[in-house]
Amino acid sequence: MSLFKKKTFFTEAENEQIVQAIREAEQMTSGEVRIYVEGRCRFVDAMDRAKELFLKSQMQNTKQRNGVLLYVALKDRQFAILGDEGIHQKVGDGFWKNEAATLRKSFIEKKYAEGIARVAKEIGASLKKYFPYQSDDEDELPNDIIFGK
Ligand code: CA
Ligand code: CA
Repeated sequence: MSLFKKKTFFTEAENEQIVQAIREAEQMTSGEVRIYVEGRCRFVDAMDRAKELFLKSQMQNTKQRNGVLLYVALKDRQFAILGDEGIHQKVGDGFWKNEAATLRKSFIEKKYAEGIARVAKEIGASLKKYFPYQSDDEDELPNDIIFGK
């Protein structure tokens, strides 16, 4: 066992649950779902942090500009859902409202991993209409969770 084991916020089973949800989401849509989890958000507005991470993780490098970042600061119980400009052009501001409500509810019930997994799938289902899954789909962004501090 390494002393430098990367810190994660979830159990192995929870990680697997979330990664599986990302895979399932991406079988519904050509969009790419990524999840970034850290303890605390250093910005007042979680959306500002999401924007920073979106660029840092080069999530804008999808062909149809249809990457979605689900950003979560677990200890602060803050989150933001950020879609790239391809998505933004097609949907209104209220597009992520249901997903946000689902996540908020799960956090109140302390069902973090479960909530994140559920929302990942819901994002896939929502994007399906605008960016349906293509038979020649490429997995443009990795499906693993990114963990910050
Ligand atoms: Ca894809
Ligand atoms: Ca992917």
